[in-house]
Amino acid sequence: MSKIMIELNDVNKWYGDFQVLKNINLYVKEGEKIVIAGPSGSGKSTLIRCINGLEHHQSGIIRVDNTILDHNIKHLEAIRKKVSMVFQHFNLFPHLSVIENLTLGPIWVLKKSKKEAYDIAMHYLERVKIADQANKFPGQLSGGQQQRVAIARSLSMSPSVMLFDEPTSALDPEMVKEVLDVMVELAEKDKITMLCVTHEMGFAQRVADTVIFMDQGAIVEQSSPKEFFHQPKTERGRQFLAQIL
Ligand code: ADP
Ligand code: MG
Repeated sequence: MSKIMIELNDVNKWYGDFQVLKNINLYVKEGEKIVIAGPSGSGKSTLIRCINGLEHHQSGIIRVDNTILDHNIKHLEAIRKKVSMVFQHFNLFPHLSVIENLTLGPIWVLKKSKKEAYDIAMHYLERVKIADQANKFPGQLSGGQQQRVAIARSLSMSPSVMLFDEPTSALDPEMVKEVLDVMVELAEKDKITMLCVTHEMGFAQRVADTVIFMDQGAIVEQSSPKEFFHQPKTERGRQFLAQIL
């Protein structure tokens, strides 16, 4: 039986009076690939941002690899080392070259030597097929290239968990595939645990073990992709699929 990598128990979060997450219960096994879908404003980004402590939940328990995410800074640091995130707008450091974007974390957070960090960086840049751009600056790259660099940067931290927040939705259509291809390869070859917010339902059908459908701050369906796409359990799920497929 594989171990539980992420556990959320009755998690609730409010922004002021507005409840953005409602009684979230979620167990993610090591290596599991989860796609999170749902209408805009349903709390998808907030949910994954809570998992690495970018947002704070107000009640319930979040555990990552058995460490509780609470106000203890040591716990937060331990979790941040295991969980890395890829954002919609890449969030690369614009004043650093591609290679420097990748070596910064390994050198300062993981205490690797410069040589070691460089070797790791080149390994992952090759993996996302962009090693030839190592000395350019992010602004000199296309959106698809920048997102592949961001994925390589995440990988260079050797995470156990990768969180993706709509990684292709800011890209021009012709660049979506090059990023999805990298993500498919990652999902199929690595034992990394992945949670991916995306509207790319082809990607979901191909790689997800589990699809989570959120609406108005709650998880309203959790099923295999086959079930979700062919026999959604709820009317809200059906309506959502009718809009995007
Ligand atoms: P999704 O990613 O599914 O589109 P979000 O998690 O970004 O949804 O947002 C869920 C809801 O919370 C939305 O109604 C949004 O307006 C609100 N929200 C998000 N961030 C904040 C914030 N920092 N302060 C107040 N409300 C927020
Ligand atoms: Mg979002």
